[in-house]
Amino acid sequence: YLAKGNGGGVAVYDPSKDENTTERLLLLTQLHDALADDQLTVYYQPKCDVRSGRVVGAEALVRWQHPHRGLLGADQFIPIAETTELITQLTLVVLEQAISRTRVWLDQGRHLGVAVNLSVRHLADVRLPEQVDSLLKRYCVPPALLTLEVTENTVMTDPHRAVAVLAMLRAGGVRIAIDDYGTGYSSLAYLKRLSVDELKIDRSFITGMTSDDNDQIIVRSTIDLGHNLGLRVVAEGVEDIESWRHLQVLGCDVIQGFTVQAPLSATEFDAWLTDWESHRREHVVGGLAGA
Ligand code: C2E
Ligand code: MG
Ligand code: MG
Ligand code: MG
Repeated sequence: YLAKGNGGGVAVYDPSKDENTTERLLLLTQLHDALADDQLTVYYQPKCDVRSGRVVGAEALVRWQHPHRGLLGADQFIPIAETTELITQLTLVVLEQAISRTRVWLDQGRHLGVAVNLSVRHLADVRLPEQVDSLLKRYCVPPALLTLEVTENTVMTDPHRAVAVLAMLRAGGVRIAIDDYGTGYSSLAYLKRLSVDELKIDRSFITGMTSDDNDQIIVRSTIDLGHNLGLRVVAEGVEDIESWRHLQVLGCDVIQGFTVQAPLSATEFDAWLTDWESHRREHVVGGLAGA
């Protein structure tokens, strides 16, 4: 797995403290070139049914094969890209790669969903539903196989517009997930009004749940809340078998995290999937039940 701080000795940027430094501008210029030059690539992390361990889909996570700094993780450039229009172009690149991968999986006989992260700027863009629709049509991918992940803060920046755009997307058959749930500002009133299909509990609660009673209470009540609202509940950042077992007991639907698999390149993902579904899944899930 690639380390998040693999900047090769280069400091990690904090865009909030970094208004217009040359470093920030340099990165934006390089990112502009990267888009034209196909330096962006998409990694895939499996999302699995909590009980059977079957892979139900994958989250698409962008990586940047930087010419001098190696493979960069999303946290190293997404926050900077989000300050400009580049984030919209970047997301379209990721959307197209993810949707065309879904087509490849379908051609292999695999009915896997794919999830793509959306930034606030793109969610406010009225062209988004049309862009999504035309990509799905181009690759003949059923809309229900695409999930768009938005955070609470992304939605709450302009809630009226977000509610409208999300409703349009959902009317087209695309699924919507609330990402990093529990870390942002949102109200139950909006959650109820939003057209959402999935709640992803933030990994900070999942990490603590086997040692911290409060985290466990939060996870349990979020699962109940999601289910009462008719949503599929996903736990992200599941790093150990113990937490996986716990999430089974609590009735969570889907897990994602290093305990299953860290994000992989498209070809690595396909090889991993074959291995997982042919024998490794049974071995791991058998161990979960047996303990
Ligand atoms: P996210 O959508 O919440 O994605 C989950 C992040 O957690 C990913 O980091 C993933 O690699 C990491 N992760 C997965 N399992 C575990 C685990 O068990 N333990 C730990 N500690 N971490 C785990 P990544 O790929 O660095 O992405 C960071 C964030 O960047 C994402 O958070 C998402 O908000 C954003 N992002 C990634 N790709 C895109 C993209 O294509 N477009 C946009 N707009 N944002 C993106
Ligand atoms: Mg996400
Ligand atoms: Mg998340
Ligand atoms: Mg996140």
